[in-house]
Amino acid sequence: MPYTSPIGFLASQKERFFSFNGAIRFTLALDTLDPIVLFPSADNLMGSYESIAAIDTKYWDASAEEEHHWDMTITNMDTIPISGTAQVALILTEISSAIMTEKRVRCRKCGNVMTVPLTQTKIKCTNCGNEFIVPFFGGNIV
Ligand SMILES: [Zn+2]
Repeated sequence: MPYTSPIGFLASQKERFFSFNGAIRFTLALDTLDPIVLFPSADNLMGSYESIAAIDTKYWDASAEEEHHWDMTITNMDTIPISGTAQVALILTEISSAIMTEKRVRCRKCGNVMTVPLTQTKIKCTNCGNEFIVPFFGGNIV
């Protein structure tokens, strides 16, 4: 299952889950790195869940200046046809995005546009004195 993580995003494989009725080998090919055998399944494991953090493009492209090509392959290592399922989580984190701390609001009475803190909901127009409320749907600002 090939995937290309886009420019501007760090990509990190955070977890994987397998459940098969026989032996498999899970191989990850990432960019031009030598393929990595992540799950050899030498003892016919039927299911496995792993939470991992080691495979992350931040280690060789910390500024996310390039796209990265991921190709995850599952190979039947058993002597019989097998079936099952595999799931991986590849988390993308956008970088270089400013954290929004302010918002622009417009007075519905006179049209004056003001910049106020993001979480502020009660506004008093600096032009005409009109007081009004705007919603804030977000959570805590980090
Ligand atoms: Zn106003």
